[in-house]
Amino acid sequence: MTQSARPNSQAGAVILLIEDDTQIRRFLRTTLTSSGYRLIESTSGQDGLHQVSTQHPDLIILDLGLPDIDGLEVTEQLRAWTSTPIIVLSARDKEGDKVRALDLGADDYLTKPFGTEELLARIRVSLRHMQQTLWIETPVYAFDNVRVDLEHRRVYVDEGEVHLTPIEYKLLTTLIRFAGRVVTQRQLLKEIWGPTYEKETHYLRIYMGQLRHKLEADPAQPRFLITEPGVGYRLKVDE
Ligand code: CA
Repeated sequence: MTQSARPNSQAGAVILLIEDDTQIRRFLRTTLTSSGYRLIESTSGQDGLHQVSTQHPDLIILDLGLPDIDGLEVTEQLRAWTSTPIIVLSARDKEGDKVRALDLGADDYLTKPFGTEELLARIRVSLRHMQQTLWIETPVYAFDNVRVDLEHRRVYVDEGEVHLTPIEYKLLTTLIRFAGRVVTQRQLLKEIWGPTYEKETHYLRIYMGQLRHKLEADPAQPRFLITEPGVGYRLKVDE
């Protein structure tokens, strides 16, 4: 598939942009409407919440620094009743906020300033994730030169079977479940080891290292088991 910015079956999806910055709104308006999306704009947290409940967008792009209630609060309120994908926009110096937003249930993030291709790719992944129940319906998941037989719990690199420990396998399948999207350290720790292990980030470093060693051609330069510094990990998949 090409890296084209043209939309496919997602054309016409309604995106709600909650952002008080005029320039960023203008940039996103141009980018998103020329890519075939329908855009609704909101400039405050309260109004954004109102727009979600009345307009039912397919995806929400949410700035974390809003003039009334902040984006974290908006994320928390939204996640109490809707699973509409949320991509948060964060300032570079607010690293902690985007991690909190992800832990509160946001789907992905972009750090300002961000590029058009990056934005459109994140939108495609998030919208597609909503449309698919891939996890349940796909017995074999393949990416790069890796093939994971979810039904029989077997993993292959090229044609050779690779033996993963139960924890390595759980780590891999959790990343597959969120394929293309970031998963925070806390989400992974909670998912794999349980809620009392949310701070044991060294576990992740160790097991991610082992997984890369078994799956990546060059574990020091991973092609698909990607670290998002200070945030978590992402399984990079083809568009
Ligand atoms: Ca702002």
